[in-house]
Amino acid sequence: MTDPTPLKLTFDAARCDGWGMCTFVFPEGISLDPWGFAHVTPEPVSEPKLQRRARRAAACCPRRAITVVTTPPPPTGAPGERE
Ligand code: SF4
Repeated sequence: MTDPTPLKLTFDAARCDGWGMCTFVFPEGISLDPWGFAHVTPEPVSEPKLQRRARRAAACCPRRAITVVTTPPPPTGAPGERE
């Protein structure tokens, strides 16, 4: 089975009200900053279990501050070998 396409979370800080529900759903990728607002990992999320949590965290945000986007896998091989 191939690895799923990595996901990334985008975060709109202007929308975040600091409720913190996202951190309970996806603590591996979202934390609260010292002011109580969300801090979202910039790293791609590849593991299926963590991808489910990332999607749930985005869905549970009452302010729709988190969006899940699919990232294409990085190109492999030397530049001349790529298609
Ligand atoms: S659930 Fe939404 S509003 Fe609440 S801390 Fe997370 S991103 Fe901010």
